Amino acid sequence: MKKVLIIGGGISGLTAGIFAQKNGFESVILEKHHTLGGECTGWDRQGYHVDGCIHWLIGTKEGTPINELWKTVGALGEDVKIHHHESFLTYEHEDGQQVHLYRDLERLKASWLEISPEDKEAIEEFCNTIEKLHSFEIPVGKPMDMMNPIEKIKLMLSMKDAGAVLQKYGKIGLTDFAKNFKHPALRGILETFLPDGYSASMVFFALAGFTKGQASVPAGGSKALAMRMKERYLSLGGKIEPNCEVLELEIEEDKVKKALCANGKSFTADYFIAAIDANFFFEKLLKSKYPDPQFQKRFQNSDVYPVPSELRISIGYEGVPSDVPRTLRFPVVSPFLVNGKTMDRLQLTNYDYEPDFAPEGKTLFSVTINQFNDDYEAWDNLSKEKEVYRKEKERIGREVVKAIANRFPEMDGKLKVLDVATPKTFERYCNSYRGGIIAFAPTLESKAMDHSGKVKGLKNIQLSGQWLQGTGGLPPALITGKASVMRLCKKGKISFKQ
Ligand SMILES: Cc1cc2nc3c(=O)[nH]c(=O)nc-3n(C[C@H](O)[C@H](O)[C@H](O)COP(=O)(O)OP(=O)(O)OC[C@H]3O[C@@H](n4cnc5c(N)ncnc54)[C@H](O)[C@@H]3O)c2cc1C
Repeated sequence: MKKVLIIGGGISGLTAGIFAQKNGFESVILEKHHTLGGECTGWDRQGYHVDGCIHWLIGTKEGTPINELWKTVGALGEDVKIHHHESFLTYEHEDGQQVHLYRDLERLKASWLEISPEDKEAIEEFCNTIEKLHSFEIPVGKPMDMMNPIEKIKLMLSMKDAGAVLQKYGKIGLTDFAKNFKHPALRGILETFLPDGYSASMVFFALAGFTKGQASVPAGGSKALAMRMKERYLSLGGKIEPNCEVLELEIEEDKVKKALCANGKSFTADYFIAAIDANFFFEKLLKSKYPDPQFQKRFQNSDVYPVPSELRISIGYEGVPSDVPRTLRFPVVSPFLVNGKTMDRLQLTNYDYEPDFAPEGKTLFSVTINQFNDDYEAWDNLSKEKEVYRKEKERIGREVVKAIANRFPEMDGKLKVLDVATPKTFERYCNSYRGGIIAFAPTLESKAMDHSGKVKGLKNIQLSGQWLQGTGGLPPALITGKASVMRLCKKGKISFKQ
């Protein structure tokens, strides 16, 4: 039996492990942390459960290929309830006007027309484009590098609607796109939908997935999903080595022989799958000796390929709100600074649909603030002095509580900061490059990544995980984890079992 060593027990590593076991390999997952799931996780604070990841999971629509794949790895299943929130986002303009991105596209259209009848043409075009993209399904079958020319043509044809939207909106920024609308609140929701400099096409892909029921939230959240996958892996006979960070690879000629770990253990195998951060893999584990042009281009050009991270401020509310939508973006009455930037609007997530995330009669909220290149530098500097870093997190926590209490006066005195996670947090826990929470951002000049994970010059190791496809996220972690085992099966002339 051939042995596969999987470095990293995030969603990609777990997926690779599950398919390795299903296909007759002996596998071991080496994980740096004491728990599995990587960035798809959650943690407990003062009686609350902070959900650290899933805002939306692509793949929740029954009967779709990606839904089947999530079920195969145990992440979803008949017994896993799905929360289909009615609105993707509620945007509150400075004058109090609320704009909703409803799941029901007809309701979205009607509500926008009610706000601004003079924007009829732009609203119809907006909704028609979203509807057109309902045909798009993220491909989960064979990876491109294993397809024959006919399979590649079929894939291209299946993506023609997505291609048309990318062609039309791919090079238009959100601020420019928003100018198609006359009403300031409609312009506001679109301008702030994603950070400045992102392509407008992303709005359509996000809302197409949401309005067709493909982007919802599994009950129990991120950690529960990862734990279901871990159980599936163990039930198939997989082995896990927690607290086992790989720091070095022993390489002879064109093959990896051994993984050497921080805890003194070492492991040999026939094949290696590095389901970890791409920068850590190329720069640290492979010591920059196997440079990859696609990644080099991106790592060396951070303006075109910024890596999104975030500040995540978790708040406990001693009450159950009656009028807070699931996701609310609201103006801040007394704006404050984060890394020299003015925070005049915050995004709040209300987890009241998950009573187990808070003690009885209380509710978990989180506020997320986008962070990019220079923010990472600022946090990196701050973190060099523990006390200064801690105080800055505390200050931001206080400002966030103040902003929520200003918006919802009935909550004043009943809000407490549970936790502030910064880009350094994600870096520390997951070795993620610049605290990245997803892969490279879709800016106007960037090209979408599509990488096989193969390493030129090394025959028995491949990279897997979110960095290989598009803007990353959970679906690429899943899909590339499976693809890495499909390649091993091809190598060993084994017919791949799904
Ligand atoms: C705050 C936040 C919100 C997010 N929201 C969403 C969302 O709503 N929807 C969505 O689709 N995605 C979301 N994402 C992104 C999603 O979590 C990631 O895309 C996905 O979890 C990445 O999985 P992965 O397996 O590729 O990598 P990772 O999760 O990074 O897993 C890598 C694993 O390898 C381990 N590791 C690293 N180096 C080593 C080493 N040297 N030796 C051993 N182990 C090592 C790490 O500890 C980690 O467990 C979010 C992420 C964050 C952080």
